Amino acid sequence: MRSAGRVGIGSSAAERPRIQWPDGRDFAFTIFDDTDSATLELVRPVYDVLDGLGLRTTKSVWPLRGEGSPDFSGSTCADPEYLAWTLGLQAKGFEIGYHGATFVTSPRERVIAAIERFNDLYGHYPLSMANHLACGESIYWGADRVTGINRLAYNLLTRFRGNGRFRGHCEGDPLFWGDICKEKVRYVRNFTFKELDTLAACPMMPYHDPERPYVNHWFASSEGRNVEAFNRCLTEANMDRLEARGGASIMYTHFASGFNDDGHINPRFQSLMERLAGKNGWFVPVTTLLDFLAQQRGPTVISDRQRQGLERRWLMSKLTIGPS
Ligand SMILES: [Zn+2]
Repeated sequence: MRSAGRVGIGSSAAERPRIQWPDGRDFAFTIFDDTDSATLELVRPVYDVLDGLGLRTTKSVWPLRGEGSPDFSGSTCADPEYLAWTLGLQAKGFEIGYHGATFVTSPRERVIAAIERFNDLYGHYPLSMANHLACGESIYWGADRVTGINRLAYNLLTRFRGNGRFRGHCEGDPLFWGDICKEKVRYVRNFTFKELDTLAACPMMPYHDPERPYVNHWFASSEGRNVEAFNRCLTEANMDRLEARGGASIMYTHFASGFNDDGHINPRFQSLMERLAGKNGWFVPVTTLLDFLAQQRGPTVISDRQRQGLERRWLMSKLTIGPS
């Protein structure tokens, strides 16, 4: 294990060693799609766009059916037609990621059942995941995303709404599943930044944080929670800059949020994706990209100073882009 060293948070893109992407590609781009509100009708046409352009990204799923009437629901792997479609995506080279057991809080036994169900369906345990805001078993989430003085700042910023609410990492709690996460899940998403070049915002990713031992490796992402935010981040100027400096982007989004409006794909999204796909980018799923970065640099363990800098930059970013 080594520290992130000279690719630390203080280094600019100019100082950063340029990454030699596979197959002579100039930069890397992918997407982690949180499955909130997703239905076949809403998101299949969006994936048809990505597929048609040759982009391969990560679509998350909820393996189990949820109960109750939460703020966000959507299709789960209990829906045979939806499940078949996700398996078809996987067969085409898209990655299927994990967004929690389902759209409501699940105790440990349900999480274990969900992770096993995922393995049965997709042939492997979840390689990448993102916490879902409505799930109490989310791991190191809410105020536990950040440390020390930054936690206090986060709590003040969010009026303590996320303080102690998420229990996935709390040993002895009915919602604890940290040991399962450590054993089965390779990458977990944490911070979201407004820069399109995620690697410039978080040069040490994927990284291990010794303060959060139940997560093997963390990754960051770029802010694109709905079609407006996505299009705002992926402007022509930003994608040209990403290309010029050989960076890597992992967009965070919800493809059910405005990308397909009553059967019509958002035209700005469509044209931006076409422009991007015309470039010499490496368009692979999240885990493929993170595995490559990890292989290039060896395992990265974040230092206290790097953690502090990363958390502070995220908190500053939250002031301008809102909760994520
Ligand atoms: Zn979610």
